[in-house]
Formats: sequence, structure tokens, C-alpha cells
Amino acid sequence: SYRKGGYHAVRIGDPFSGGRYIAQRKLGWGQFSTVWLAYDTLTSSYVALKIQKSAQQFAQAALHEIEFLSVAADGDLQNTRCVVRLIDHFKHAGPNGQHLCMVLEFLGDSLLRLIRYNRYKGLKLDKVREICRCVLTGLDYLHRELGMIHSDLKPENILLCSTIDPAKDPVRSGLTPLLEKPEGNANGGGGSSTMNLIEKKLKRRAKRAVAKISERRVSMVGGEASSKTERSLDGIDMRCKVVDFGNACWADKQFAEEIQTRQYRAPEVILKSGYSFSVDMWSFGCTAFELVTGDMLFAPKEGNGYGEDEDHLALMMELLGKMPRKIAIGGARSKDYFDRHGDLKRIRRLKYWPLDRLLVDKYKLPEAEAKEFAEFLSPVLEFAPEKRPTAQQCLEHPWMNVVTTQKNNVDSVESQVRNLKIKG
Ligand code: ADP
Ligand code: MG
Repeated sequence: SYRKGGYHAVRIGDPFSGGRYIAQRKLGWGQFSTVWLAYDTLTSSYVALKIQKSAQQFAQAALHEIEFLSVAADGDLQNTRCVVRLIDHFKHAGPNGQHLCMVLEFLGDSLLRLIRYNRYKGLKLDKVREICRCVLTGLDYLHRELGMIHSDLKPENILLCSTIDPAKDPVRSGLTPLLEKPEGNANGGGGSSTMNLIEKKLKRRAKRAVAKISERRVSMVGGEASSKTERSLDGIDMRCKVVDFGNACWADKQFAEEIQTRQYRAPEVILKSGYSFSVDMWSFGCTAFELVTGDMLFAPKEGNGYGEDEDHLALMMELLGKMPRKIAIGGARSKDYFDRHGDLKRIRRLKYWPLDRLLVDKYKLPEAEAKEFAEFLSPVLEFAPEKRPTAQQCLEHPWMNVVTTQKNNVDSVESQVRNLKIKG
């Protein structure tokens, strides 16, 4: 992929946008881009630099993402709505062509890495609640205020904001690294006469900064996966933000029929019955379940005589009950999977395992907690898109508003929910 039209090869210390940004280390990559930690010499802070592949279709996609991120930033001047902030964008010419680059606020690890770090055991419910509050805040903003559908919500596309001081807790420092500022004056090189000199100086400084970072960071994420030691997430702030607007669209101006990553895809997308904001709510539901259990809610596979789509629909019905006939037969693709009675054509015997039982029997949640979480989640996973609650309604749900502080935890969740219901 590092050829004409593909990724731009970056070396540590490389300058971008006339020397304003200095590449530090790779943070991640996607199909379209590589993402780098960079030092912003203008503001003396760290940023994430997303460098798009150069071919026309990737540039187009980047322009699309920049458009959506700009709208989101313009409507949220305080930067409190749990959507990643676009700081700047520019073009960078390299040997493989012109690359559109986005400068984003620097965030921490994705929820996928958090789930992995926690060894797929599932997070405590109060942690999940904190995460849900951020994601719902972001979705409420996108949906209600901007008319935007994210259309690719999943743990990978939700990043933690928190940073932990590695000096205080070196073991956890890899999860959400706290990065210290490099030495020297932020606008160093300004006095040199030739660009070459500036670049050399910037590169030297960037290298020093990188060395300092790696000295203090011991990345724990992905490492020691086989160890049995418990990993406490106590003290880790679960604030997070929604990222990756490469597939976003407007509710009234959609670009693609097939949206979302397979496991987080809503039934109306599979059936091609038309979609709206509530597809993000479905993905949110799948994500919340995964945070609680460590397992994907639906992981469809093609089998003997049936495809991935039909397996996916079967898995949904095994958890949520039979799909109402009208919905099952109402999509442009319905005839591929359902007969006229609304039964799947190739998968006949379904094994029902409702959500509250699954949470108790398989994931060993206490009865009361399972019941309350299932009451919160089940409406989000309604087959009928218009029946799903909005992000705003989810934020108001009693489950979201349980207070579990240290002092307060004698109060059972159940009695708090009861109180809230009475008050409400
Ligand atoms: P793509 O559209 O190519 O999938 P993403 O925007 O999802 O690109 O970014 C790819 C990866 O880069 C993410 O999964 C994450 O690991 C990392 N990343 C993206 N944005 C940031 C950011 N603002 N801060 C830190 N890491 C980021
Ligand atoms: Mg992505």
C-alpha cells in the first residue's frame, strides 16, 4: 500500500504543514489512512495526524470526513459534545502523491483496546454507564442538532479521552498514556534562515521528545494477554469521544445503502428497508452489550446452505424473539431471507435465549443487575426502527441515572431505580 495512490511513508521527526507538526509515533491505521501522534509546535501540544492515502477516491473520502468534522466542530465551540475535534487540515505532497491530512485532538485508546486490556471479561456496570453517557451525548448531538448519522459506531471508533500519570501508576500508563511535552521552546527554529535548517532542528527536537516518551511508557495493551492477574480499571476516567466520520451521512442525504460494520449492522440495513438515526442506536446497543460482557452481541458466520446475512438475522431473533412479519417481509432484500410467513428460508430451528437470561446464565450477572440492564438495552434493540428510543431518551432512562458513588453504594441499584421511577 506504500505506493502511488497509497499510504504516505512517515519517519519519526518528519515535518508537516511547513514544519508546524512533527511526527512522533504511529497511533493506528485504517483502510484509508495512517494516524500519527504529532507535536504541534504552534500550540505546544500533541495532536493526532491522520494522513490519507493519496488516490482520488481516498482524497474524496477525506474531504467528506473533513466536511462532517467541520460541521460538528462549528456547532460545539465548547468541545463538550463527545465528538473528536478537527483542529486543522492541509495537503501534503509526498512521493506517492498528494495526501489530505487531518489534524485531530489527540485521544487515548479505543474501547476495543480497553475490552482487550480487560481480557474480554466485561467492565463493571458503573464504568459502562460512564462510557454510555459520553457515547449517547455524542449521538444526541449528531442526531438532534446536526441531522447527521455516524453509520459506523463500534468500540474501535470510540476513543478514551483520559490520561493517567505514569509516574503515579506505571503499570496502567500504557492504556491511556500521558505524554509529556518535549523540551525546548515551542517555536524553535524560527530564527534559522533556511528551511533545511529549521527542519533539521525540528527533527532533532522531535527525536528527543520521542525518546522521552518511550522511556516512560511501558505499553501494557495487548501484552501479557495470557496472564491471570486481575486488571483493575479503578481510577481510570471513562470519558470518551466518537471518532471516524469517514462514513457519516445526513439523514436527508444518504450516500450508501450498505452501511455499518457487520456485527453492529441494524436489521433494516440488511433487509434494505431504508434507515435513519436509529441505526446508530442499534450499534450503540451492540457496543454497550460488548462492554458489559466482553463478547460481541452478534457474530454472524456463513454456514451450510446459508449466508452471513441470514445467520445474522437468525442470531437477532434468537435473542430478541421473532421479527414481526411486516418488518421481516418489508425490505427490498426480504425475499432473499424470509418466506411470505416471515420465517427464515434456510434456518428453521431457532434456539431462543433472551437477553436477561443470557446475562445471568452465560455472563453471571446478578439477577437484579441483569434485569435492569436488559430493560435499558432491549428497547434499543427493537426490530422496528421507529420504536427504538433516541439518544436523548436513553440519557433520561433510569439505568443511566443510577448514582453509584463510593459513599452511596450501600444503596442497591434496584432501590435507586425504584426511587427514580417514583420521583420521575
Ligand atoms: P480510518 O477511517 O482509516 O478507519 P480512523 O479515524 O478510524 O481511520 O483512525 C484509525 C485509528 O487511528 C483508530 O482506530 C485509532 O487507533 C487511531 N486514531 C484515530 N484518531 C485518533 C485520535 N484523535 N487520537 C488518537 N488516536 C487516533
Ligand atoms: Mg476506523
